[in-house]
Amino acid sequence: MPASAPTQLRLLDSYGRVGTDLRVSLTDRCNLRCSYCMPAEGLDWLPTPEVLTDDEVVRLLTIAVERLGVEQVRFTGGEPLIRRGFPGIVARTAALSPRPRIAVTTNGLGLDKVAPALAAAGLDRVNVSLDTVRADTFAAITRRNRLADVVKGLEAAKAAGLAPVKVNAVLLRGHNEDQAPELLQWCLERGFELRFIEQMPLDAQHGWSREAMITADEILASLKLVFDLTPHPDERGSAPAELFLVNGGPATVGVIGSVTRPFCGDCDRVRLTADGQIRNCLFAREESDLRTALRGGADNDEIADRWRAAMWTKRPGHGIDDPSFLQPSRPMSAIGG
Ligand code: SAM
Ligand code: SF4
Repeated sequence: MPASAPTQLRLLDSYGRVGTDLRVSLTDRCNLRCSYCMPAEGLDWLPTPEVLTDDEVVRLLTIAVERLGVEQVRFTGGEPLIRRGFPGIVARTAALSPRPRIAVTTNGLGLDKVAPALAAAGLDRVNVSLDTVRADTFAAITRRNRLADVVKGLEAAKAAGLAPVKVNAVLLRGHNEDQAPELLQWCLERGFELRFIEQMPLDAQHGWSREAMITADEILASLKLVFDLTPHPDERGSAPAELFLVNGGPATVGVIGSVTRPFCGDCDRVRLTADGQIRNCLFAREESDLRTALRGGADNDEIADRWRAAMWTKRPGHGIDDPSFLQPSRPMSAIGG
């Protein structure tokens, strides 16, 4: 492998993958406490001065889209909807040229109030995280009694035209492992596209274990007890979800086997944390500090060069199954899921 990143336009890594899908964490704070993500007491949040301002986020987005070929921007967190300037950031992202596709991953709290404004600002798609449709299970997993508010958010997103609304679910042994079919039925009845995600070793408490994780095989076996699933005929490309037609289609369900069926070879993602660090992988152990460069007066060329260099060193895979695997020091909520 050449020693340094070539100064070409796009976010190329040394294995030939190109980063076109930028995940932007807008905050590490959250109003839920999902047990697979953070402890009940929350975390030591980033001090506000360390968090990028709206203008700084938009400057980096402009460089990403206009110089580095980023085609899709997904806002996440923490909980992105608690960032006050979010609709404005969406509007300014939609004004970039070429206009990127704009999506958000949210827990859905407060979405009922902002969905129309977000759609008007240019948001294209929304993924709402919902692991169960039982109020008691929801409260046990998220440590908050807010299921009804998430459902309101989902309905509002659909009404605002942010369709197709996707639902992301994680199954946890002892909580909702037997609820996959009822969650799918609930989503089918409402026209939401459900994706199950294998639990990953990214929780702040380091409580993940391979034995406790519900695997993609288990998820599919449980769904197949109730539904007829056939592989979707479309090419999967760089999409992490394996898609299945439900009962012959057109409805689909997806399974994202991040751990047991890794898709690193086709990965097109790059991440920007709320404090302005580039991570070339969820599981990266190194970050590249764009905030210091930005605040130190670096021009757009220099920032673009630093970003390319950060991408070049992306490893070929996450290596969760490797005995030498080390969980990254930042949890999912601080990286941006
Ligand atoms: N708060 C927003 C939400 O929950 O959608 C956005 C951030 S959250 C970190 C993004 C996604 O990561 C959610 O779908 C959540 O379920 C998922 N997630 C969090 N911790 C996870 C873990 N340890 N393994 C797999 N998925 C996880
Ligand atoms: Fe918050 Fe999302 Fe983490 Fe749940 S998964 S605690 S909603 S950041």
